[in-house]
Amino acid sequence: MNFDTVCVHGAKDPHNNTGALAVPIYQSATFAHPGVGRSTGFDYARVQNPTREPLERLVAALEGGRESVAFASGMAALDATLSLLGRGDHLIASDDLYGGTVRLFDSLAKRAGLETTYADASDITAFQKALRPETKMVFIETPTNPMMKVTDIAAVKQALPPHVILVVDNTFLTPYFQKPLTLGADVVLHSGTKYFAGHNDTLAGFLVTNNLEITDKLRYILKTVGTGLAPFDSFLLIRSIKTLPLRMEKSQANALRAAGWLAQHPKVKKVYYPSLADEKSLAISKKQATGFGAMISFEVDTEATAVKTLEKVKTILYAESLGGVETLITYPFLQTHSDLPVERRLSLGINGRLLRLSLGVENPDDLLADLGQALS
Ligand SMILES: *Cc1c(COP(=O)(O)O)cnc(C)c1O
Repeated sequence: MNFDTVCVHGAKDPHNNTGALAVPIYQSATFAHPGVGRSTGFDYARVQNPTREPLERLVAALEGGRESVAFASGMAALDATLSLLGRGDHLIASDDLYGGTVRLFDSLAKRAGLETTYADASDITAFQKALRPETKMVFIETPTNPMMKVTDIAAVKQALPPHVILVVDNTFLTPYFQKPLTLGADVVLHSGTKYFAGHNDTLAGFLVTNNLEITDKLRYILKTVGTGLAPFDSFLLIRSIKTLPLRMEKSQANALRAAGWLAQHPKVKKVYYPSLADEKSLAISKKQATGFGAMISFEVDTEATAVKTLEKVKTILYAESLGGVETLITYPFLQTHSDLPVERRLSLGINGRLLRLSLGVENPDDLLADLGQALS
């Protein structure tokens, strides 16, 4: 079956013979046993429930993985990956990452005895130099948030010793445009809150892998800590994923149009979008992904213009997050990346003139008219 057909038909409820098209919300915390030592396959909802299970199968199928585990948020999923490591282990991460990821690595991971080195993943030699005998995991985003730097996933995997686990955060492109497991990644992470859920109405997180040993460890965390996705949220995710391909296509078409428009605007100094990147990055994008996604960062002439734009947008909403049907604009310097030390933000290019757009599915004429009046 093709990807878009799997999105529509990939989640089935094998326990229901009513003919219902939608997977029901099994709002039950516990499940009765048919006899001693026997189980229906469900015992207690923290471990697994019949709404979450078909969603996990669906997401695994979309990423080309054997298993996926659904968490209550992207951060809960990320935290679970740290359980694959132990005290004294070393982690290498891209230098440009979702702010919450950096916060987790620099606080909880550090307290658990893990050390993180940040390196520019788009420069494989710099990344290799950070390797140590105790390096156990490499964590990358591509394209990165918010600077949209592109990393060659297959080349990173090849540069690593085989025992080092490569985790790729695929939130920005989704498997509709990029499938990291097929490029050598060991684990794919998603904030399902973004394009999978797609309507800015719920949180979710996923880890997908082909490695059953890793899955066992992740399921153990989920069962022990209780960070699994609830039945109602699982239902929302199954429902939203049916339209993932349509939303990705429309959001990307809007992004391509907006990127071109921004690049010609007199108050816009630089546009960060994979289709407008340098030749080398563009070649990597074309090799490993089938699209550029719908996230754009851009730098305006002055901080005053940036602040005024955020205050003047009307159809476009000034809000954090991304990947929903509503177009959002945010200010990475003061919002998503405010936990990073100022020098680090500035050295990455996250300054007071940088804005980040997540294109939704509205009519692009309305979006550009809104941006035009806000930038004027
Ligand atoms: C939002 C986001 C996360 C965190 O996910 P939550 O669902 O908000 O917990 C992680 N990585 C990326 C790239 C994100 O955009």
